Amino acid sequence: MKNTVVCLFISLFLFSCNQKKEGNEVKKSVQEKKQEPTKPKETEIWKPIPPTVTPGTNNSAPSDAIVLFDGNNFDEWITAKDSTHVKWVLNKDGSATVKHGTIQSKRNFASMQLHLEWKSPEEIKGDGQNRGNSGLFFQKKYEVQILDNNNNATYSNGQVGAIYKQSIPLAKASVVTGKWNTYDIIYHAPEFDQNGGKTKSGTITVLHNGILVQDHYEIKGSTEYIGYPKNQAHGKAPLLLQDHNCAVSYRNIWVRELN
Ligand code: MG
Repeated sequence: MKNTVVCLFISLFLFSCNQKKEGNEVKKSVQEKKQEPTKPKETEIWKPIPPTVTPGTNNSAPSDAIVLFDGNNFDEWITAKDSTHVKWVLNKDGSATVKHGTIQSKRNFASMQLHLEWKSPEEIKGDGQNRGNSGLFFQKKYEVQILDNNNNATYSNGQVGAIYKQSIPLAKASVVTGKWNTYDIIYHAPEFDQNGGKTKSGTITVLHNGILVQDHYEIKGSTEYIGYPKNQAHGKAPLLLQDHNCAVSYRNIWVRELN
């Protein structure tokens, strides 16, 4: 009697497995039929319609960008150390030159597309990290290095285009010292949970003069001069431009937020 019951259960189990398998196969074949359209229109998607953005000319800001510096004033910036007005030199050619302190944007940002142009001083002074050094820090923590590396060796993870002491650039793409470089950067901010734990790393893609030097790099944490990267939770924060005692110049700085 006991054996009969066991046999019955096994038969029922096998039958149900078989049914399920057949069911899945039918579902799969229906899906396959659905997945292979036969008319062009079946794969056309008309909505949503993306917003229209008018591009700038000669690297100026597109119509939907936040202009952080266009050569006229420092209205969007303050000195990072003490929140006083910016003491950088405003040049007649629409650029600004580093002087008297690191500056930061008045606005706070998270993820963004950023464009800026920078120029090493024409007069070549110092070597290694002391030649044409500046840098931009996303959310005040994550530095993309700016350096005059032309005929100037330094550690690879601190050279121009590096995520400082974290990611060696894929190429050195600088123009001649004293000429204008462009940086076009896609930055995605890291995410943190309520307990301050990092749930998602920030990422960064950097084009230096149109050449890919950082390819969706997953940022390990803050870019430290000494020690390992740190991952203290933070929200939106300013963009920062570094004063490293070198007369680096900037122009055409604009941002498109990606939130
Ligand atoms: Mg630097």
